[in-house]
Amino acid sequence: MLIFYSFLSQVCISYCLSYIWDDYNTRQQFTKRLYKFTCNCIACKEKWPKMRGDASADTSLRDAANIQWKCTKCATALPKSPAKKVACLSCSKSNDIDIKSKRVNASISENFQVACTLISSQPQKALSLLLSHQYLLEEFIAKPSILYVDCQEAIRNCYRMTGRRHEYDRDLWA
Ligand SMILES: [Zn+2]
Ligand SMILES: [Zn+2]
Repeated sequence: MLIFYSFLSQVCISYCLSYIWDDYNTRQQFTKRLYKFTCNCIACKEKWPKMRGDASADTSLRDAANIQWKCTKCATALPKSPAKKVACLSCSKSNDIDIKSKRVNASISENFQVACTLISSQPQKALSLLLSHQYLLEEFIAKPSILYVDCQEAIRNCYRMTGRRHEYDRDLWA
């Protein structure tokens, strides 16, 4: 999975199982049994549920009311709510969910969906659209999120299409 790290932050590696496909108990048992440690990654610490399988058929996960939005001011995850304005529990800023939702939906149609049609013919173009989409999701939405997983999987498909991963790595991290 592609993660944006800030300078000097700790880089973690995956021990194979991912919250995308495996639930919390499966992930924990796997690292305990095979590697003899209790996994304390963010997905385990916060007990993220698996995202694919039964969950991905659930289109309501993509509804604005079921997305955990980030506070514009302090980036803390806002409480889930059907309301249009939600106050941040950490800094008390009032966040306009409608505006966030419009920005994300615009990026889904302008970046994500266009990219999906370009992956097989123009993977490099698709990749740059997907990266713009991922940056926007990072800014607006707390993880885990099915929207984020959708984008990650499309990015992985771009890599698969080209088999020229090192070139993309160079572009990404330059
Ligand atoms: Zn873990
Ligand atoms: Zn805040």
